Amino acid sequence: VLSLENLKKSYGDVEVLHDISLSMLPGDFLVLLGPSGCGKSTLLNCIAGLEEITSGSLRIGEADMTDVPPRDRDIAMVFQSYALYPTMTVAENITFGMKVRGISKAEQAEALARVAAVLQIEPLLARKPSELSGGQRQRVAMGRALVRDPKLFLFDEPLSNLDAKLRVEMRAEIRRLHETVNASVVYVTHDQIEAMTLATRICVMNEGYVQQFGTPDEIYFTPANTFVARFMGNPP
Ligand code: ATP
Ligand code: MG
Repeated sequence: VLSLENLKKSYGDVEVLHDISLSMLPGDFLVLLGPSGCGKSTLLNCIAGLEEITSGSLRIGEADMTDVPPRDRDIAMVFQSYALYPTMTVAENITFGMKVRGISKAEQAEALARVAAVLQIEPLLARKPSELSGGQRQRVAMGRALVRDPKLFLFDEPLSNLDAKLRVEMRAEIRRLHETVNASVVYVTHDQIEAMTLATRICVMNEGYVQQFGTPDEIYFTPANTFVARFMGNPP
């Protein structure tokens, strides 16, 4: 579903992503893992089309995405801040994107019901975002992505605003969701445990370089270098 080859990204004359190459298969849960400032969000934004790549290639499905605008990439993104519309109800937040694209009321209602059931937010549909807890807001933000039924989901640190207990609960929920809808996901985090519990593949990044790309077992038990070993808390 996604393949990157020698992708580079510069801001001005500062290169922040160097020769990123990786690929994922349908149903993969790919975690981009690394310390603050290593380029995770930049890479995710390049995949989403919110940032232009400087060179290299970026494919989603079979198609080269270099010149495709974000709305035509068949992706749905969940931001760290949730970015819910404060004046709209939960239901309106979730269906807004469909409304804009001219999808019929009946289809909107059907999609809303499906997503609300999966996320167990039926009792919240008439509320405003300000009347929800952090975890509930998070679920609504995911609902907005889920109604799109896209080829690829992009999550940028979606749990970082939640307290520790809720984070663990939502982690389990995201995993269940991934299994239920069999989606392909790219998920950004700096949390090793989150990566190990969610990922089918992990891409460990540091200072704009891919340090290692592999399964959680490979990353943990056969780290490619001392950076990966230390970062995963399993130094030799
Ligand atoms: P965090 O975990 O803190 O969110 P990150 O891994 O997501 O970090 P990025 O936000 O991708 O890191 O930033 C990667 C590098 O690119 C950093 O050095 C950052 O300062 C730089 N950078 C990001 N956005 C811009 C921009 N618009 N202009 C210039 N430099 C930028
Ligand atoms: Mg970031």
